[in-house]
Amino acid sequence: MPLLELKNVHTYYGNIHALKGISLVVEEGEIVTLIGSNGAGKSTTLRTISGLLKPRQGEILFKGERIDHLPPHKIVEMGVIQAPEGRRIFPRLTVRENLEIGAFLRKDKAEIARDMERVFQLFPRLYERLNQRGGTLSGGEQQMLAIGRALMGRPRVLLLDEPSMGLAPVLVEQIFSIIGDINAQGTTILLVEQNALMALAIAHRGYVLQTGEIVLADTAHALRENK
Ligand code: ADP
Ligand code: ADP
Repeated sequence: MPLLELKNVHTYYGNIHALKGISLVVEEGEIVTLIGSNGAGKSTTLRTISGLLKPRQGEILFKGERIDHLPPHKIVEMGVIQAPEGRRIFPRLTVRENLEIGAFLRKDKAEIARDMERVFQLFPRLYERLNQRGGTLSGGEQQMLAIGRALMGRPRVLLLDEPSMGLAPVLVEQIFSIIGDINAQGTTILLVEQNALMALAIAHRGYVLQTGEIVLADTAHALRENK
């Protein structure tokens, strides 16, 4: 059974038909990427999985169980976590407090401390800024904090919406390598990126979206050759 499955999902903004029957699967352990030009429906797909938008038709299954009727916080509790999400980071809270909020579902202090260590291993810059307010970090650091906070929730599936957006080229390479590390440590990832070639370089499989529909699905290797 796939970890995550979308069956014929339709999402609207008012009467704008943004997703026109999206069907896809994400298997445990994979990095799957959604690619396609601006406006294709990539972000809308992630927001629909997260429950921030509700599909008008179709089903979303997590480990075979329907989640499309659940409110966003229940979906987070199940381990389907998006970053950056609608809320982004809390600018007035420190880096440490932002990360602690990511672990809000859990009580075990020692376990939370271990998870925070792991986030700092992935993002050493966050450790250097531990007691600084989120809002005073650079754009790239805020992006890393958003991903770090999502990791503190121990996602079973991490939904990443353009993690490289607005980053300097050197940081873009870094973030892709970190995403590969997160996956290697056992987290399944659904990745949305403008930068298709970089996404395909770390993904196992990909889906190409065009005006709200999937027009191509293949291994990342085959999609790269296709370019
Ligand atoms: P992508 O992430 O692939 O760039 P989006 O999912 O953001 O595409 O957008 C899909 C379609 O939905 C586009 O036509 C876009 O204009 C429309 N759309 C996205 N967000 C909104 C919104 N908040 N209100 C109305 N239309 C929207
Ligand atoms: P993203 O794809 O990351 O959402 P966008 O630049 O497409 O970034 O959109 C930025 C914001 O504008 C989002 O909140 C999105 O919902 C909203 N938006 C996008 N397209 C439209 C649209 N056609 N009408 C209204 N709001 C939109």
